[in-house]
Amino acid sequence: MAVAPARSVVLSFEDARGLVEEQAARVHPLGTESVDLLAAAGRVLAESVLADRDIPPFPRSTRDGYAVRSADLARPPATLDVIGEIKAGEKPNKRPPAIGPGQTAGIMTGAPVPVGADAVVMVEYSAREENRVEITRTVVAGENVVPRGAEARQGSVLLDRGQRLNDAAIALAASVGKSQLRVYKRPKVAVLTTGDEIVEVGATPGPTQIRNSNSYSLAVQIQEAGGEPVLLPIAPDEPQALRRLIEQGLKSDLLLVTGGVSLGRYDLVEQVLSEMGAEFFFTGAKIQPGRPVVFGRCSAGPPPFENREGWATQPRYFFGLPGNPVSTMVTFELFARPMLEALTGQSPRKLTFLQARLKSEIRVKTGLKRFLPAILSGEFERAEVELVKWQGSGDIAATARANCYIIIPPDRECIAAGEWVALMMR
Ligand code: AMP
Ligand code: MG
Repeated sequence: MAVAPARSVVLSFEDARGLVEEQAARVHPLGTESVDLLAAAGRVLAESVLADRDIPPFPRSTRDGYAVRSADLARPPATLDVIGEIKAGEKPNKRPPAIGPGQTAGIMTGAPVPVGADAVVMVEYSAREENRVEITRTVVAGENVVPRGAEARQGSVLLDRGQRLNDAAIALAASVGKSQLRVYKRPKVAVLTTGDEIVEVGATPGPTQIRNSNSYSLAVQIQEAGGEPVLLPIAPDEPQALRRLIEQGLKSDLLLVTGGVSLGRYDLVEQVLSEMGAEFFFTGAKIQPGRPVVFGRCSAGPPPFENREGWATQPRYFFGLPGNPVSTMVTFELFARPMLEALTGQSPRKLTFLQARLKSEIRVKTGLKRFLPAILSGEFERAEVELVKWQGSGDIAATARANCYIIIPPDRECIAAGEWVALMMR
């Protein structure tokens, strides 16, 4: 499975992704910690959250109107006696005990439907005169009522471990009284930028130097995926210094190296990693941008591995992401993200794609699966998408204007305007 480092293994996108998913299924999340409900947003749940009682705990009216016996309204209009009014949150002793034949009670959204009533008629279909109300239409039993326990039974699992906590999940936890949640600790992800031409953001670049931007796009992507970025100093294109920094990076839970993985004379990352005994799963994927992407692992053992919470036995995975800024962003999304998500404790999920109509024709060469920055626009159901004009995979400015990538299969040379294309949001 893992290959000798010297050999180049270039896989299709699907095979490369499949290999990452296979390895990701073997890693363990780190320890857990308990955090306040709001601090748990975006974190990965490490416990099951159960319903502490039936939801809803009583048959709940979904409308403002009248609680009725549906049989009384078989032949509308019907005039009923109003025996009371039920507000949401009213104490039981203030509510009418039961609705008998020919009777009704006013009821508000969120209030319990009284015994005897089996439906709620919206106030719009009623005409009230003192203690009598005329209802002008029929209802079916159960209309506008959520039965007790219909959303969840007491003790049933509402949220499971491995779930990333979004707004709805946090609301659900709140609704069952969880003011604290047990979540997985965030994995540390080392980011190592390489290249003699790269300088730090604060530096004034010389005429042929460029500022480090990849560490920052990666840091954002890592945080967004639930990890904690650890930015290492920039590595020069020199084996010894590079090795020292790679060793430092392998102390984190995952290592991302950017740049230095192409076929140039000073692309030393693979060489240094293989000298360190790394295994490589692939050294390229038939994609654009990002073809030279590398995925491998170093076995656990003595330094650089540190015994962090039972982690000494787990191998450290690394990715070599091509240095062109758009390649770095795309290959993180396609390959590094599933591994990072596994380390965060998230349950595995497949990449999801949308479809939209292409606004103007695309012509490309065949042979690579392409993920090209694009803009999805249009109102309501009329979405359309077009490529941003760009100068290739170094063009960060074009990518900053894009809100998605259009995916072009490797066998397509020309895609006509109006055709449906697959997209990945960014
Ligand atoms: P490489 O993959 O090292 O051959 O780099 C490919 C291109 O990406 C070159 O033009 C590099 O200057 C550029 N590049 C590499 N690393 C970075 C970085 N950290 N930030 C911005 N551009 C980079
Ligand atoms: Mg380089």
